[in-house]
This record gives sequence, structure tokens and C-alpha cells, in this order.
Amino acid sequence: MITRSSALLQRPDSPSVDVMPLTLPSAWQTQLSQAIRDPRELCRRLGLDDAWLPGAERGHALFEIRVPEAFLARMRHGDPNDPLLHQVLPLAAEGESVPGYVTDPLAEAEHTSGPGLIHKYNGRVLLIASPACAVNCRYCFRRHFPYADNSPSRAQWERSLETLHNDPSIHEAILSGGDPLAASDRQLAWLIERLEAIPHLKRLRLHTRLPVVIPDRVDDALLGWLGATRLQKVVVLHINHANEIDKAVIDACARLKAAGATLLNQSVLLRNVNDSVDALAQLSERLFEAGVLPYYLHVLDPVAGAAHFDVPDEEARELVAGLREELPGFLLPRLVREIPGEASKTPL
Ligand SMILES: *Cc1c(COP(=O)(O)O)cnc(C)c1O
Ligand code: SF4
Repeated sequence: MITRSSALLQRPDSPSVDVMPLTLPSAWQTQLSQAIRDPRELCRRLGLDDAWLPGAERGHALFEIRVPEAFLARMRHGDPNDPLLHQVLPLAAEGESVPGYVTDPLAEAEHTSGPGLIHKYNGRVLLIASPACAVNCRYCFRRHFPYADNSPSRAQWERSLETLHNDPSIHEAILSGGDPLAASDRQLAWLIERLEAIPHLKRLRLHTRLPVVIPDRVDDALLGWLGATRLQKVVVLHINHANEIDKAVIDACARLKAAGATLLNQSVLLRNVNDSVDALAQLSERLFEAGVLPYYLHVLDPVAGAAHFDVPDEEARELVAGLREELPGFLLPRLVREIPGEASKTPL
């Protein structure tokens, strides 16, 4: 089947979202470029009272709003407490400084072994494959991350690849970001080809939210390079609430599975989003319906601007204890925290 991105249709006046010249952007790239980026439009589209606008504008000035239509469509109209909206709508509280909440809570700046390469844990390296995200989550621990310094050029990629080549202890490459799937398939196919040439590399992992917020991202071009690699594939999605999983997401997950990927999910425990046993149990059930296993439930990283999402440790433990009584063991996520300097995520 010929997809639009492979058909090389010549239309020089088309917007060049991709680096490949003379191609039409694919459907997901169009959706990405048309994502909502204006506080007023977000409030208007959801029928929110004007009282929400000043806070939205204030937060937007700190970390821009970005919401794709496909994600907006799963929110309830006129409900400021919608659990999906709450993840993307800035509040005035983001501008308050709270003791203990800092710009680089994971001290990643100290672990970058080169631009775009983070080597903190044995056997695994994390590569920043794209600085961009399709959605801007207000609680994001990378909301202050210096992406401009970590958006590697080809020459810098070559250096990262050489680092991997020269370290036989590394068996897994984790593509992260931002969102790695915000990169073009041409760039990703190039990178995967280079990675699979490293003999000691066994696994390719993708940490992505794109199949959730723009399910059309999982198109033939993506499935082409993903399905073709010799590396074992793990896709770790990021879903926080059952309402994020609609039919289109379930179909996207099925396509990823058919390409040979193991599907896992990580969530962040967030006040007013998923801070109840019911919400967490429904999330696990719904994930499994989509063929995805719960992996991590992260407590919030103390990033400046996100303090209003915090759930205290004691409450987090009680929630997971309650969840354990409701669910089979394989649907129970591991409650963890990331502590700078530790050799792994730390169980609570
Ligand atoms: C979370 C993380 C990983 C992956 O950890 P797992 O426990 O294997 O999921 C790897 N590198 C970095 C820098 C991380 O933050
Ligand atoms: S998708 Fe992930 S990296 Fe991107 S803003 Fe959301 S939490 Fe942050």
C-alpha cells in the first residue's frame, strides 16, 4: 500500500513539517501542527467559564499549552474537573514558588554523557530522540529541561552511537524525549538502523505518549521500521486515566502489538486526576483491555509549577494497598519514586 508519506507527491508549497523535502506531511503531522496552543481557544472549545482564563494564561507563559484535537475530543464539555483537562490546563498555582520544588528534580543535567544521552542505570541508556511533545502535561518533570542543548545534530548522534558501540554492558536503548515519536519516521528509521548495528544491543524501548494523544501516529511508516528491526521492542505508553483510552487508542495498541512490541504503561499519581482506588483500578482494567500491562505508578517529581498535583507518600501507599485488594497481581503497577543518584527507581 502506498502511504502519503512514501508516495513522494511533489507539492513544493506544502508546509514542511518533516525534514524530507517535497513530501506531504502525514496525517499525524498535520494533527500535531494543528494542536491547540492558545489558552483562550482551549477554554472556548471546552465551554469553560472565563474565570479559568487568567490562570491558563499565566501558566501558558511559563510552559506553553499544547493539546491535540484527538485528546480534546475525549474530555467532557463544560467540566473544569475533567481528569484529562486537568492534565493540560494551566492553573494560576503554577506561578507560585513552593519550597522543595525545583527546575531539574532528577538532576539529569549531571548525568548527560553527551548531548541527548543520559546514562544513569546499568545496562540501559536513555536517548533524547526528539525535544518536542505532542501534548504538554502540566506536571511534566522535564518542563524546564534545556531541550535546546539536548537536541543533537547528526554529528552528535554519531558520538552517542560511538559511546554505545564502545560499552558492551549496554543492552537496551530507550528512546525518550520530549516524545521520541514526535521525530519523523525518516529520522527514526535512520537511528534504529544504526542502533541495530551495535551487536551487544538487544532491546529497543520507546517511552511515548503520542499513540495516546494522536493515535494516527501509529501509521504504516512507523510500523515499517518498528516491525523490521531485529531488536526486541518494548513500547512504554504514558496514560493516567481510563478515559484516555478510546477505540482509536485500542486500535493503535493492536497495531503496535502486531508489529511485535510488548506494551507497558507508566502513570503519574496526580491529585484530582487518578487519586482514588476506583480511578486506578479502572485504569488498570482498561489498559488490559487494550493489551497493555501497568508497569510503573510514579509519585510526582517535585518540579517547580506542579506542586498542586502532589499526593503525599502515605496516601499513595494506602491507595496502592487498596488497589492490591481489588486487582489481580499482574494489573498492579509498581509504586516508585526517582531519586537522583540511585541505581534504579526506588519502590515506596
Ligand atoms: C526510568 C529510567 C530508565 C528506565 O528504568 P527502568 O526501571 O528500566 O524502566 C532508564 N534511564 C533513565 C535515565 C531513567 O530515568
Ligand atoms: S508527554 Fe511526557 S515528556 Fe511530554 S509533556 Fe507529557 S509528561 Fe512531559
